[in-house]
Amino acid sequence: MRIVIVGAGVIGLSSAYFLNRSGHDVTVVDRHPNVAAETSAGNGGQLSYSYVAPLAGPGIVSKLPRWLTRPDSPVRLRPRLSIEQWRWCIAFLSACTRRRSDLTTRQLIALSFLSRTLMHELIAAQPTLDFDFVRSGKLVVHRDAQAMHSARQLLDFQRSLGCEQHALSPDQCVELEPALAHVKPLLAGGIHTPSEDTADCRRFCESLSTVLRAQGVQFLMDTPIDALSTRRTAGDEVEVWSRGASIAADHIVIASGACAAPLLKPLGVRVPVYPLKGYSLTFDLPPHSATPQISITDFSRKVVYARLGERLRAAGIADIEGYSLEADAARVAMLRAEAAALFPDTARAGHARAWVGLRPATPRGTPIVGPTRYRNLWLNVGHGALGFTLAMGSAALLSGWLGSGERAELRDLFAPSH
Ligand SMILES: Cc1cc2nc3c(=O)[nH]c(=O)nc-3n(C[C@H](O)[C@H](O)[C@H](O)COP(=O)(O)OP(=O)(O)OC[C@H]3O[C@@H](n4cnc5c(N)ncnc54)[C@H](O)[C@@H]3O)c2cc1C
Repeated sequence: MRIVIVGAGVIGLSSAYFLNRSGHDVTVVDRHPNVAAETSAGNGGQLSYSYVAPLAGPGIVSKLPRWLTRPDSPVRLRPRLSIEQWRWCIAFLSACTRRRSDLTTRQLIALSFLSRTLMHELIAAQPTLDFDFVRSGKLVVHRDAQAMHSARQLLDFQRSLGCEQHALSPDQCVELEPALAHVKPLLAGGIHTPSEDTADCRRFCESLSTVLRAQGVQFLMDTPIDALSTRRTAGDEVEVWSRGASIAADHIVIASGACAAPLLKPLGVRVPVYPLKGYSLTFDLPPHSATPQISITDFSRKVVYARLGERLRAAGIADIEGYSLEADAARVAMLRAEAAALFPDTARAGHARAWVGLRPATPRGTPIVGPTRYRNLWLNVGHGALGFTLAMGSAALLSGWLGSGERAELRDLFAPSH
């Protein structure tokens, strides 16, 4: 079958890998000249298989008034005249219950563990892939006793789902990651997950696209998709248009990240995907600096740090303010100050490259993977803060479903609701 995938980010390319492997004739289309030109370019680099609990959790509601009024808050809402924004916020708030959050965590762990297995298989099968992949392990540090207490409870729950994690004292945190020595008095403890990985998502996409091209996948780059419309001859089928011409396809997969909702809306396909704007800074590591070997999350500040080769990537911030990719200098400065407080050597010595990206977020934090009411239109969207982590599993689910037409238990969990 001829399959057109809209989007050459980590989700579109992973989908291309599995669909091509199943024997389909695959074309990836993107509006940019290069792959990974949007959200997959500068993300936090975490393959965070055991840290998938959604932002929508029971602890969030009490923090929101503080977060939404302080300028240095990691989450900010800028109200827009947008029904989509308000609908998303209301659905987000209704998902902030213990029951819903535990259910989402359970579902996402099943998908992330599948993703981990498939990522490791891919790396073994494609030795030319080169993307700063390291089995680094991850340490989430907590600064107050209450947060550490909640983290221990989550650890117990996640252990029951198969995650291997350990609670550490501040001394043990520093023993594991000496670059944290100067902040030891500020720490209440940490949770260590030895099985987590880190890697450069943009380099993964570039490297994977080289493999895909060699395997016969076609790329139509610099090709904006202007419209999706129903076929004149068959109202239950969709056509994809770029610059006034339709692109021939038996099936179409939408993997267009944060821009999925406006693209699908004219067809009457509503997906609750809204952009959550985030920032990253990439520092070139000065020689002999105290930089972390392990991936670190500063829980209270919601900032993640990953070593990518000879660079340190700091990423965080979630601003609910629409589709603009304009960087707010104050938010960049805030992220820089966070990085400087935790890793002063690096931040002092290195010039940092700032980047802005839009997380394609659903209110509950679960991606949308599967068929639509149109016979030939499929979705792989809404991966929020976990697109790199969940890419392989989501792509395998989509490819299996598109190939066999059969539902399966894990596929059902992420299926579109229409
Ligand atoms: C600050 C930040 C930190 C993050 N950290 C992590 C992390 O540590 N670990 C993790 O797992 N995830 C992380 N994420 C999330 C992750 O980056 C995303 O979930 C993932 O990149 C989404 O991939 P995607 O392929 O869906 O979207 P994208 O990478 O945005 O790709 C979508 C593609 O579709 C194309 N497109 C859209 N519309 C059209 C159109 N009309 N015509 C043609 N092409 C179109 C775009 O050009 C784009 O190339 C982070 C995100 C941010 C913002």
